[in-house]
Amino acid sequence: MRRIERRMALAAVDDNGRYLDMLRQGSEELELLAKDLLINVTSFFRDPKAFELALGHLATTGANMLIQDMTREMSVDLLERAHIGRLGCVQGLQPYVVPFSFAYYRKFIYSFSTVGKKIEWMRANPLVCVEADEIVSRHEWQTVVIFGRYQELPDTPEFHRTRAVAHDLLAKTAMWWEPGYVKTLHKGEERRLEPIYFRISINEISGHQGLPAA
Ligand SMILES: Cc1cc2nc3c(=O)[nH]c(=O)nc-3n(C[C@H](O)[C@H](O)[C@H](O)COP(=O)(O)OP(=O)(O)OC[C@H]3O[C@@H](n4cnc5c(N)ncnc54)[C@H](O)[C@@H]3O)c2cc1C
Repeated sequence: MRRIERRMALAAVDDNGRYLDMLRQGSEELELLAKDLLINVTSFFRDPKAFELALGHLATTGANMLIQDMTREMSVDLLERAHIGRLGCVQGLQPYVVPFSFAYYRKFIYSFSTVGKKIEWMRANPLVCVEADEIVSRHEWQTVVIFGRYQELPDTPEFHRTRAVAHDLLAKTAMWWEPGYVKTLHKGEERRLEPIYFRISINEISGHQGLPAA
């Protein structure tokens, strides 16, 4: 830490954020600091405590971004805008994550598929996780994570209305059945196409956003 402060003094910069910017721009200062830190003090990098302290200092005082919770309303807004996410399910101790298309409506995530690994796994264990995001850059993003329960919507009178809701929501996107329902070759074999509508009831939802520092 002393060496960073010394370099800041020599560079006539008293603000951590400005000094970080200076380093990021790849100026001569970056080389000078590296020299200062490396010459005779490689122990600094081998001492995790000292390294952590230095990082912590920069993260709290000079970071370029801030991460904060999103309100439930903001998370729902993101789900209404984003139609592609990641769906995670589990068999035994093994998680499985795939990209999927969805439509959010009134506390449910609706989607469409054919029978394959994820459907078989979710039938056996309906506890799932969904992630959706809008990522502008590493410093500017919104992500939503949902813990929920898989619910299949079979072609029976009982589910007729809910299937119609699912269909109408998903059909707002052109060619909505692709790639959920499309000829698929796996290990050279064509997969059986059996259409499945399903929805995920949301038990828990959290949203985080990364914002560039003001
Ligand atoms: C943008 C996007 C949107 C999608 N939307 C949907 C959707 O709405 N509904 C839908 O059912 N599918 C969708 N898919 C395809 C989806 O990601 C899966 O590939 C597909 O559903 C097959 O999954 P499965 O478990 O039935 O695979 P299976 O055919 O049973 O899986 C066999 C093996 O293939 C591998 N595998 C399967 N999928 C992938 C993958 N995507 N990438 C790498 N390896 C894989 C796994 O190792 C798995 O063990 C979408 C994909 C993308 C990229």
